[in-house]
Amino acid sequence: MQGMDPTAVFQEDQRLEKGLQTGHQGDPDWASYKLGVFICLNCSGVHRNFPDISKVKSVRLDFWEDSIVEFMTHNGNLRVKAKFEARVPAFYYVPQADDCLVLKEQWIRAKYERQEFMADRKTISLPGNREGFLWKRGRDNAQFLRRRFVLLAREGLLKYYTKEEGKGPKAVINIKDLNASFQTEKIGHPHGLQITYRTEGHTRNLFVYHENGKEIVDWFNALRAARLQYLKTAFPELPESELVPLLTRNYLKQGFMEKTGPKQREPFKKRWFALDPQERRLLYYKNPLDAFEQGQVVLGSNEQGYAVLADLPKGIRGNRWKAGLTLVTPQRRFVLTCPSEKEQRDWLESLRDVLSCPLTPLNLLRQYNEVSVQKREEPTAMAVFGNRVHLDAEGEGKPPSSPERGISSCLERRVGKAPRPCAAANLAAGALSGPGERSRSKALVPRRAPSPRLLLPPAEPEEAGLAVSRLPSGEAAE
Ligand SMILES: [Zn+2]
Repeated sequence: MQGMDPTAVFQEDQRLEKGLQTGHQGDPDWASYKLGVFICLNCSGVHRNFPDISKVKSVRLDFWEDSIVEFMTHNGNLRVKAKFEARVPAFYYVPQADDCLVLKEQWIRAKYERQEFMADRKTISLPGNREGFLWKRGRDNAQFLRRRFVLLAREGLLKYYTKEEGKGPKAVINIKDLNASFQTEKIGHPHGLQITYRTEGHTRNLFVYHENGKEIVDWFNALRAARLQYLKTAFPELPESELVPLLTRNYLKQGFMEKTGPKQREPFKKRWFALDPQERRLLYYKNPLDAFEQGQVVLGSNEQGYAVLADLPKGIRGNRWKAGLTLVTPQRRFVLTCPSEKEQRDWLESLRDVLSCPLTPLNLLRQYNEVSVQKREEPTAMAVFGNRVHLDAEGEGKPPSSPERGISSCLERRVGKAPRPCAAANLAAGALSGPGERSRSKALVPRRAPSPRLLLPPAEPEEAGLAVSRLPSGEAAE
């Protein structure tokens, strides 16, 4: 037997794999000939870091011995996946092409080295409670300090403590309002994790890392597991598959732009913007690592009169940056300039993406709840958005508080699937058929919480009632 062709095996493998979501970027024309899988260039780089687990060859460029080609024919992506990914827990985050290195490395190690997801493994129980130290960036300085974090999954709480023994937690965070996303570039650490939660109508950011890659990814997945536990209890009607996309979310785009005020005559100021597509919020900060946002714009949809224009209003010129855009909301035009034309294009595309996505019933329900809580009345969905542009601390009014927050998603569209009404949508659609149907609108309001505390805003001694610009001087900030 001579001259077996690895490309034939590769092509057959690709044919079988067609239509599977693999997370690979471009053609997977590399292979781990130790594991028997075809992978993309991107993944081959990660596999190379683990010579004990994996050995990499190019399908097209490297020499293949017949025995290896033979081995590949008997394995291939489908078989290997069936073996090593037999039982990946629903909460476990499977990295995608544009995810950071630590997620990919730990996925490969969990899968092939520790073999955590093989069928003969014992049932993987939810990680439940978790306790350990993370390096946390100080709120008002750039110093990272070691802090003890405690996750109580059943209670739905994450707490952290400063050094002093015997003292109460510095913050008690409700898992209901928590998000976690790896932000390695922004934080400046390859294991940098951003933990975000809602408090007093604001978005609070914590920036943490752990030196050990497994430790930080385990924390990430433990938070996801706790979120899944919460969502299952809060929305027992919904299948798990519809809750998983809500466990954690990433920003669609982040970066600097300059903005002027509501009169459009104020000097342009440089701000860091972050677009959260699922929550439909454009947040802006003085600095990327600020604890609190300076302001936020709640984004409705095109149908509601929201739009983004690829230029500045007539007669308005930016400060240093020329490439501009105007975000139109029913109340106000946000005039913004971008550092480059490429950035301008990217922002336009991302904002259009969000605005063109109709509000899901869950979006509406969240707004409905927020304003109902605020105003003690039952406005229509349109009126909800008519009142919901958060104003900022730059002379533009006082942010309202929004203790209640729902869940929503535009994700299906984003991953290229046709939008379809989900069970949640149907439920909520019934709930939102008109004002005055308050009792039905409760369908999606958490009605059976694991702990009564879960529904109450947590006590947060660190920042109760404070916005960044309103921190009393001398307020203890760690
Ligand atoms: Zn890949």
